[in-house]
Amino acid sequence: MTEAGLVVSWSMKPSDWIEISRIVQRTGVPAMVAFARDTKASSRQPIRYATFFLRGGWKGLPPASTAPPPRDPKSAKPPHCGHPDCDEVSRTRETEDERGIRSLDRCPDCHPASKGHAA
Ligand SMILES: [Zn+2]
Repeated sequence: MTEAGLVVSWSMKPSDWIEISRIVQRTGVPAMVAFARDTKASSRQPIRYATFFLRGGWKGLPPASTAPPPRDPKSAKPPHCGHPDCDEVSRTRETEDERGIRSLDRCPDCHPASKGHAA
């Protein structure tokens, strides 16, 4: 914080420290410093207390994106190819060979595991 040109007083209540350490774990220090810098730049009054940042917005910072958000299984699929034999949910095609044997195959056009699709 101080290296970023943010000289503020860190005197605060123990409960505030607990809060800050939670936010550090959740959003990470870089996001907090970036927020504090923006707040200081847009503030007309000098900010002397770190609690100002705590009350002013650190609590509302989004969690750091260390891992990609859980993917929606539906959106993970490529768009349905629209083939009449292709099942839109399972992305399989029921095909019938020359001997009349029906089989389910992955759709070559839109099954998520199919190769060659520009997903
Ligand atoms: Zn398909």
